[in-house]
Amino acid sequence: MNVNQSAPPVPPFGQPQPVYLGHHQSSYGGQPGPTTAPTSYGAYNGPVPGYQQTPPPGVSRAPPSSGAPPASTAQGPCGQTAYGQFGQGDVQNGPSSTVQMQRLPGYQPFGSAILAPVVSQPAVLQPYGPPPTSAQVTAQLAGMQISGTVAPASPPSGLGYGPPTSLASASGSFPNSGLYGSYPQGQAPPLGQAQGHPGTQPPQRSVPLQASSFTPPASGGPRMPSMTGPPLPGQSFGGPPVSQPNHVSSPAPQALPPGTQMTGPPGPPLPPMHSSQQPGYQLQQNGSFGPTRGPQSNYGSPYPGAATFGSQPGPPQPLPPKRLDPDAIPSPQLNELPPQQKTRHRIDPDAIPSPIQVIEDDRNNRGSEPFVTGVRGQVPPLVTTNFLVKDQGNASPRYIRCTSYNIPCTSDMAKQAQVPLAAVIKPLARLPPEEASPYVVDHGESGPLRCNRCKAYMCPFMQFVEGGRRFQCCFCSCINDVPPQYFQHLDHTGKRVDAYDRPELSLGSYEFLATVDYCKNNKFPSPPAFIFMIDVSYNAIRSGLVRLLCEELKSLLDFLPSLLDQIPEMFADTRETETVFAPVIQAGMEALKAAECAGKLFLFHTSLPIAEAPGKLKNRDDRKLINTDKEKTLFQPQTGAYQTLAKECVAQGCCVDLFLFPNQYVDVATLSVVPQLTGGSVYKYACFQVENDQERFLSDLRRDVQKVVGFDAVMRVRTSTGIRAVDFFGAFYMNNTTDVELAGLDGDKTVTVEFKHDDRLNEENGALMQCALLYTSCAGQRRLRIHNLALNCCTQLADLYRNCETDTLINYMAKFAYRGVLSSPVKTVRDTLITQCAQILACYRKNCASPSSAGQLILPECMKLLPVYLNCVLKSDVLQPGAEVTTDDRAYVRQLVTSMDVAETNVFFYPRLLPLTKSPIENTTEPPAVRASEERLSNGDIYLLENGLNLFLWVGASVQQGVVQSLFGVSSFSQITSGLSVLPVLDNLLSKKVQGLIDSLRAQRSRYMKLIVVKQEDKLETLFKHFLVEDKSLSGGASYVDFLCHMHKEIRQLLS
Ligand SMILES: [Zn+2]
Repeated sequence: MNVNQSAPPVPPFGQPQPVYLGHHQSSYGGQPGPTTAPTSYGAYNGPVPGYQQTPPPGVSRAPPSSGAPPASTAQGPCGQTAYGQFGQGDVQNGPSSTVQMQRLPGYQPFGSAILAPVVSQPAVLQPYGPPPTSAQVTAQLAGMQISGTVAPASPPSGLGYGPPTSLASASGSFPNSGLYGSYPQGQAPPLGQAQGHPGTQPPQRSVPLQASSFTPPASGGPRMPSMTGPPLPGQSFGGPPVSQPNHVSSPAPQALPPGTQMTGPPGPPLPPMHSSQQPGYQLQQNGSFGPTRGPQSNYGSPYPGAATFGSQPGPPQPLPPKRLDPDAIPSPQLNELPPQQKTRHRIDPDAIPSPIQVIEDDRNNRGSEPFVTGVRGQVPPLVTTNFLVKDQGNASPRYIRCTSYNIPCTSDMAKQAQVPLAAVIKPLARLPPEEASPYVVDHGESGPLRCNRCKAYMCPFMQFVEGGRRFQCCFCSCINDVPPQYFQHLDHTGKRVDAYDRPELSLGSYEFLATVDYCKNNKFPSPPAFIFMIDVSYNAIRSGLVRLLCEELKSLLDFLPSLLDQIPEMFADTRETETVFAPVIQAGMEALKAAECAGKLFLFHTSLPIAEAPGKLKNRDDRKLINTDKEKTLFQPQTGAYQTLAKECVAQGCCVDLFLFPNQYVDVATLSVVPQLTGGSVYKYACFQVENDQERFLSDLRRDVQKVVGFDAVMRVRTSTGIRAVDFFGAFYMNNTTDVELAGLDGDKTVTVEFKHDDRLNEENGALMQCALLYTSCAGQRRLRIHNLALNCCTQLADLYRNCETDTLINYMAKFAYRGVLSSPVKTVRDTLITQCAQILACYRKNCASPSSAGQLILPECMKLLPVYLNCVLKSDVLQPGAEVTTDDRAYVRQLVTSMDVAETNVFFYPRLLPLTKSPIENTTEPPAVRASEERLSNGDIYLLENGLNLFLWVGASVQQGVVQSLFGVSSFSQITSGLSVLPVLDNLLSKKVQGLIDSLRAQRSRYMKLIVVKQEDKLETLFKHFLVEDKSLSGGASYVDFLCHMHKEIRQLLS
């Protein structure tokens, strides 16, 4: 096959002849220079010494000299911002336009817009007609190159990006994209689940001294406001958790009523209350902690499992068919209760650590000052806080976040604490406009300076010695010579006098321009290409997907290949329902191979590929496997064929993004293997209908196409002596134990790395990590992006607990658990999480907390949200699915979470619930969130709830008529259409405010969140309540308070 001549690839397996319209991202400019054939990155571990290749044409490279400032970049093709610090004259790897102009002529383009309608059965071929001639395509390509612009960087004309202006179709139909689009159109959620909580009085929590049995959360149990479930067996609740006073920094969310036996709100120092309130909570206090069960010796090994809590969700049972009593939807009613009753019978939800309060406090305390990275081991502000970062030698937390910024010196300590040591790395993270992209450093022909032994790149932690003639590697201690051209004198402190002129000596993050040694086959890469491959089977045509997509692509690509007009017509009458999948990927990958470039395939696919072809799948969905030892098979691919295919794709630098439009089971677990292993994304639009889902789909597509992507990438994380990277999580492929291979990596994706000790660390040196990502930019430039981070080391456990970051811990633990379900029963995975959490907290209790209050649950200040967040992970759809959650949903979410950053997992597991009508209407700032519990809903108000994937507008039944009119344009609550997905645009303050807020929430997330309007008491409310994660869930997930009680019990068992 010769793609350069536009001949379509040989259709594999007798499939319809796909038509390709090549689309090179020429607008990104860049330096082509075809490379081909997957080969190893021989040069990655060190350039060939003595190589004498000239720099690529168009790249001006000043010979590096000791006095010269480092190269910086001007406005680059991919949005690199220019740095004022270095003069324009110093730009050495300048704008790519020059490069582009010089290189393009020699480059035989693959095409401007590769578009391959494919993938049905041979029958589809007939109406298809001949593929475009090579002349046609070439002409299109020629046109593209002349104009030199391509859609990805600019919004498509004709399709606005603004907020929706059309009214929603008030069809009243059930939204089909609720959770993950799991409800088919018109299909109600499972019967029984649509009911509200019964208004019956639940069993009252026993008074502290009274023992009663603990019941594992049953499905659909009744739940009262501030009523939090039965206590633990033989044990009273030991009082709400208390942060160690000496670690506490946050103010009290709310003062406790006098006489309460709760030990007070978390956070603030309330020492006097603690002891005085203890007596009622010390049933099992024995005062001695004695030898504990000790740390799991099998730390990190697969799921030993010990706990029993929450491990038996059982098949979700429908609730008794009782209607929800509107009055039972409470606003927080605690304050209306007599204090005595409150304390005797209830655990005050306000007295347990509140995510809202912690987030709020961090915003107040850390949101105003920039986070300066010059100090080793500083814990950054929370991901929920808006802050600016100043790089002064360590990578920004936008690139790297750690579970702890203070690492135990020994592995024994680490095992004792059981706190996972991990870093969530987002190498190509997008930065806010106020922060500059990493500088690009060009060392010319010699390439980046590295340690001879461990190959670490020059960084601010390298120590120059012998008057600057040599440097000692901070990672392996090797003494290296400084090349003459890099020599510089040292000042009286031993620092190079040019340190602040060189990014690699003063900043935590920067890029090196790679030499040809870092390229496959020692050839500079071609600019990557995009290929669109469209399923044109019956369902895709009938749903309107194909027409919509072709229209959109015309805008996105700016050029209008006539084929896009023809495709919908060509297949308008198709009856073909069977599809193939693997051959499509294969064809796209072969096309890239022939074009000798990396690139991305955009696949649009509707159904389980059951047609006779490689990668053929069968429907093996079986909900009966849930909660059995075979449940893991639901998450595993059903054939190894896709793994093999993915491996080929990775070798070619072919990243696959998959857009799924299933009407039924499509086996996401198998179809997502290739996207997952190639660093791609999966999007799922169940029961896709153009009128309901086009905005979401098109928004996702536009964003996806315009993403900055690094292609054909390899990532390596180096560490200083004493620790090493041992485990990796994310969307990538690994062929050995150290190199993370990514056919593509975009700015939203993270790679999570776990570290283990292999030696003793010391407090003085701390621990260093360096993440090096070698990749091809969209412009076709080979680059190395380096992120460095220094952490502290401690000999006291208290220092570890004082410098942890719970959001990152949860991110890691969720990923660990979500991978665990591939190989272990879900029950075991859950138990392991609970055990580990208990061990973490018990270790703190034993070693760091004051010993005076053994009956009390004491949480480290930095981890006081660990229980509530962990509970959210435990009751998530992957680990504890409700009846409405499909196998595909679970596989989809599992796959998504694997690559999520810390901010995404934070809101995904603990959604944001924003009251819209509580604050004055003139107040345009984002309203403060409330806790995700039904107790917090007032039936006179309206709320938005979002978790990064879903967006609900909940309307209370008693909302003022004026508010209803302002927001929905109807005169009463009953006239509001349940399931509405677009609010009318009305000319009043409230409407504008809510629309603005919705737009702003969507802008913060990497995927478009479709709105669903939920009326109180409506059947859709069940769906909504799924996200009220502090409450007991219908699938059996524990309420926050219940889980806290259970965690307390587990900790006490470990300590006794
Ligand atoms: Zn070294």
